[in-house]
Amino acid sequence: MNRVRSIYPDLPEQVTVIDCTLRDGEQAPGVWFTREEKLALARLLSGAGVDVLDAGFPASSEADSEALQEMRRMRLDARIGATARPVTQDVVAAEKARADEVFLFMPTSDFRITQTLGITREEAGAMFRHGAEEVVGRGMTLNLVFEDATRADPWLLVQMTDDLRQHVPITRVIVADTVGCAHPRSMEILVRQMIEALGDDVELCTHCHNDFGFAAANTLAGVAAGARAITCTVNGIGERAGNADLAETVAALTHLYDVAHRVDPTALPRISAEVARMSGIHTSPTKPVTGSNVYRHESGVHVDGMLKDPKSYEFLPAAWVGEKTRYVLGKHSGTALIKHILKSAGIDADSAWVRELLLEVKSAAEGRDKANHQRAYQLRTAFESINLAGLDPELLLEKAVPRKLNAAASSVR
Ligand SMILES: [Zn+2]
Repeated sequence: MNRVRSIYPDLPEQVTVIDCTLRDGEQAPGVWFTREEKLALARLLSGAGVDVLDAGFPASSEADSEALQEMRRMRLDARIGATARPVTQDVVAAEKARADEVFLFMPTSDFRITQTLGITREEAGAMFRHGAEEVVGRGMTLNLVFEDATRADPWLLVQMTDDLRQHVPITRVIVADTVGCAHPRSMEILVRQMIEALGDDVELCTHCHNDFGFAAANTLAGVAAGARAITCTVNGIGERAGNADLAETVAALTHLYDVAHRVDPTALPRISAEVARMSGIHTSPTKPVTGSNVYRHESGVHVDGMLKDPKSYEFLPAAWVGEKTRYVLGKHSGTALIKHILKSAGIDADSAWVRELLLEVKSAAEGRDKANHQRAYQLRTAFESINLAGLDPELLLEKAVPRKLNAAASSVR
């Protein structure tokens, strides 16, 4: 047994990867995808080996419904899922959209059951059962999404699942850390408790938000406790601080947890770039796995080590995602890179010359003015604030005010 499996004996051999970019990702404030973008992303994600797509919320959007139907016509390898509340109209909309699977979501914390829905636990259970029966009755695979599960009573989650599975086959139970308040240890305990109580018949799945930066860590903690499916989004986009990032999570599964998945890592940089372009949310150069700086090295000590053996500073090899290690000439460069560049150009230089050239490189790097840098930064900032602004509320008021005036006028009449 390898080391990680001796630490986490409940680790599954393989996990199902569910991507929610087209639903939760698009719910990020200000983000929207065109139908063509949705179809292109669905094709890319399916081609990359993602198992299931949470592709939209057909009851809330006719465009989503049409996009889902088109995805089915495209005969993708990935299964197509629709999000729905446990009400007949939402499940009918998912069926009309030709979804293979339904992500049936319901608040499960007492706080949300009473405050948001204004009902009791028993009424929530009955609503969930009604929705679940509608999903299965219409021939779709059932994923129960326990919204706000990390603020819920774990025994209510077990009891709800137990009650429901007396009536309908449940494929997955998705434990949602909707407000991102879990930490890895609490997620591990919750998933373990549920698996111990429910057995192996239902596949436990995580849905983690990133409010404290733990979305990927919490997802992996769930897997360590035996979750056999995970949800994530490309670049981690989603509500508020977003979701677990697809690339980061699958990279950790492969390189740190020895858990298999079907995602082709060489597809990840392109998918990340496409989602950044389509969503308008830039990713940081230091973003793990797909960030533009992750396989680039500048500082003298690092470059020297890398040129001797790439394992020196790249535990995650560039080649895993189909990238190349690159070296950057700059203020922090050392003699190793100068020699390397000269040698590649067929120039044999002695150490004194190399040191002289290094001083010239450093003074050139330090002597640059920052005007271009400032311009690029301002453009990017302006782009993000315009692109993610959403619609102007004036548009709504322009439509609402004349109607209100008409209503007032007719009441006077
Ligand atoms: Zn979510």
